[in-house]
Amino acid sequence: MCGIVGYIGKKQAYPILIKGLKRLEYRGYDSAGVAMIGECGELNVYKTKGKVDNLTEYCNDKDVSGCVGIAHTRWATHGEPSARNAHPHYSRSRNLAIIHNGIIENYADIKVRLQAEGVEFRSDTDTEVLVQLVEYIMEKKNLPLLEAVQVALHQVIGAYAIAILDRREPRQIVAARKQSPLVVGIGEDEFFLGSDASPIVEYTDRVVYLEDGNIALIRLDEELRVITILGEEQELKVKTVDIDLGQIEKGGYEHFMLKEIFEQPECLMNCMRGRINVEGNHVTLSAMIDHRQRLLGAKRIVMVACGTSWHAGLVGKQLFESLCGIPCEVEYASEFRYRNPVVTKDDVVIAISQSGETADTLAAVQLAKERGAFIYGVCNAIGSSIPRATDTGTYIHVGPEIGVASTKAFTGQVAVLSMLALCLAKERGSVSDEQYGEMVKELTLMPRKMELALKTNEQIRHLAPIFTYAKNCLYLGRGYNFPVALEGALKLKEISYIHAEGYPAAEMKHGPIALIDSEMPVFVIATHDHLYEKVISNIQEVRARGGRVTALVTEGDTRIQKYADHVVTLPDTLECFQPLLASIPLQLLAYHIAVCKGKDVDRPRNLAKSVTVE
Ligand code: GLU
Repeated sequence: MCGIVGYIGKKQAYPILIKGLKRLEYRGYDSAGVAMIGECGELNVYKTKGKVDNLTEYCNDKDVSGCVGIAHTRWATHGEPSARNAHPHYSRSRNLAIIHNGIIENYADIKVRLQAEGVEFRSDTDTEVLVQLVEYIMEKKNLPLLEAVQVALHQVIGAYAIAILDRREPRQIVAARKQSPLVVGIGEDEFFLGSDASPIVEYTDRVVYLEDGNIALIRLDEELRVITILGEEQELKVKTVDIDLGQIEKGGYEHFMLKEIFEQPECLMNCMRGRINVEGNHVTLSAMIDHRQRLLGAKRIVMVACGTSWHAGLVGKQLFESLCGIPCEVEYASEFRYRNPVVTKDDVVIAISQSGETADTLAAVQLAKERGAFIYGVCNAIGSSIPRATDTGTYIHVGPEIGVASTKAFTGQVAVLSMLALCLAKERGSVSDEQYGEMVKELTLMPRKMELALKTNEQIRHLAPIFTYAKNCLYLGRGYNFPVALEGALKLKEISYIHAEGYPAAEMKHGPIALIDSEMPVFVIATHDHLYEKVISNIQEVRARGGRVTALVTEGDTRIQKYADHVVTLPDTLECFQPLLASIPLQLLAYHIAVCKGKDVDRPRNLAKSVTVE
């Protein structure tokens, strides 16, 4: 959470910083702020509550000159969203300004210590403690910024990506990271800083991903230096990023979320490219080639994930169990990491995270690694922390996902888990050649079928106003479609703020059925699969209690119309791939309901993408 941007070079920093903040606004939008070293050497900090547009409005009549600056868009953890708690935070003397992503866990102890020394605080954040501590160390020990940051970071417990400006060293930014992401972009006579590469790619494709415990010393007209907090000089690992600007812009769509929903057929092709052969009869994953024995030897698969990725994991569980016969568990990373889970060296732990930075998932990976498991990452952001921490993995390659409500990442994750399950099943001999061939073929047809599923958009846009009144909604599905029901409910909650529950359709009668009345929309995934008849009975149970049913059905279905108020038709596919199609109308439904309700679809309240705090 929180977006960090920085610039140092020959150009005016302010426009670059604001553009960067807008690109990172998906990470947080409680408040925003900039700090710049002005033309006369002053350190100006401007910050406001709310979104980046509020900041630019506020800065209209301010001096925003200067070629060195840092900027922040916040997702509050400590201290309410307000201008006073917005970043950057000045130090006591106002010589330093800091921006921070993460949580300083022992901030309260440090604060008490500093207060006893007479330091006064201006905010309620954990972040301010860090900048005050750095200044205190600089003054007490007479150290320059870099050394003081090293000393301070030794005293700090928690997670951080930080950037600090010092008015007295106007040609420098000091940045550091531990557990929160930070990327330095290297241009011609200029450097950029970002929580991810999206604010940087417009200017340069040469980046350095900082590692945990690293500090970057970024100075104008000097080489970039990376040093550990122990003071050891690190070799620069410059990488080339491959993000095209169009991928991080809206391209004519009203919202990123809608753009990303519509990108899914293309994303799926990108995800399968080079993995499924042109004949469409064989899947190869490089992870499977490089680590064949280890993966085939898995006695159990444990998936660790959060939110939408956890739902993708639930689809994966059914794939691994039914196609490969491997026992499989799906864990919330935040629970797994703080339990004492049984993990053995025969386990394969699959970590699923769009951003590759999800703090809880990363911690779960570390725990599983310590216990000897083999770790497999399923991530989207190239070079992010989770892929770097895992033994192997498969990128979902769906391109940057900016909409806070995840859509294309879900289908990308399901596609990768499907390909992995197919590879394992083939090697283990747990599916026949015929079944394998049929499944691989079907996967290759999926982009086309997704296009057909997207044709439901107009129908759903017209249906959406009917549901805007609802206070509660129920999503029902069984088998492979149960995670789809959970995901559909999550999408609606996230962006329209309507309370929604996803349930296995038959489980409904053990509780939620009590909620059903004519005010309660019930969305049922009732596509053709081996549970179809059972789902029809579940629909009748809802109808018998006056519930209003909207059903997702397979083309050619004639029965469900009799029981449902509305029917949305999807192309036929194999049961195990239904989530790839059935999730699409539910994404569209959540989107259109939220738009009808006038909600800010790409920046839903209280949420942020890339949850880098635990
Ligand atoms: N803990 C800091 C704050 O509340 C940064 C939060 C974050 O990175 O999400 O201001």
